[in-house]
Amino acid sequence: MQKVLGILGPSYSGSTALGYLMNTSKKVFFASELKRLFEGDGARTVCAICGEGCDFWTRGFKQILVDRGPCAAYRLVGEKSKASLVVDGSKMPYFFRKSLSDYGESDCAFLVAKKHPLRLLASYFYNVYLKKKNLDLWKNGSLKDIRASQNELWAEFHQENMNPILGRLWEVYSSIYGFIDKKRVPSLDVRHEDVEEPEFVGSVEDAVYDFFGVSFSLSRTSLTSDFCHPLGGNKAPLWNALGGSNLESRVEVGRWRYYRESKGLVRDDKCFVLFEDHHVMEVKSSDKYKALCELLGYSVDVR
Ligand SMILES: [Zn+2]
Repeated sequence: MQKVLGILGPSYSGSTALGYLMNTSKKVFFASELKRLFEGDGARTVCAICGEGCDFWTRGFKQILVDRGPCAAYRLVGEKSKASLVVDGSKMPYFFRKSLSDYGESDCAFLVAKKHPLRLLASYFYNVYLKKKNLDLWKNGSLKDIRASQNELWAEFHQENMNPILGRLWEVYSSIYGFIDKKRVPSLDVRHEDVEEPEFVGSVEDAVYDFFGVSFSLSRTSLTSDFCHPLGGNKAPLWNALGGSNLESRVEVGRWRYYRESKGLVRDDKCFVLFEDHHVMEVKSSDKYKALCELLGYSVDVR
């Protein structure tokens, strides 16, 4: 049976970056989110690196997978990539329940991408809420500019969006842990905060060895676009490897520069720039926030 490592976690939990980390071993094929083939745009989803011309995700190959269904996908992807391990960052239990229905504990395992609730909240504020407000962040400024203009935005976000977001995150993580318990397969919680610790890469390598008896050598600092064919998704963590210096940012310290200057995986600290002390105090008084911190094993304070 094809060995499969699934990555679970909500959006902005660091799941894609974990996949790119795994892909630094040639024994691993990171498919990004295979579920994209079976919903939404389906076979029209393209490789985030090569686009339409990808010689892995050809139109014909994608159609075969769509026709055969999620249960057959891992074997076919494994055969084509010749990788020992297929990594699927589909994130959500409902998809793995289908795609791994025939798999047991010796053939599949999971990494759970965790991030401190304040960091998660900053990611949603930045990536979802501000975008909905038509703030084009690529053009309009650095994180510091946004902070300077955000008090009004914050009041609305805090009143209407914050608790629903924290509540949804709690539900996602609860369903993830419920799924893992029920499936009785091995898993490792990967805290985004540990990404810059010297032991981080070794702990992931060790866990994968324990899961499957296969050894890997991974690199946090040399993410590469070689042999990387993620099906859709965010390629920002790879911008440096992709020659990101050709990308132009119209602002001094916008997100483009942040990514193109980053070497490998870096910790997401934008909550410290976006949120002022009084914002953090308001977040900390939320029961939903405290419940999420407890579920994920974090203190309510980030540092
Ligand atoms: Zn490709």
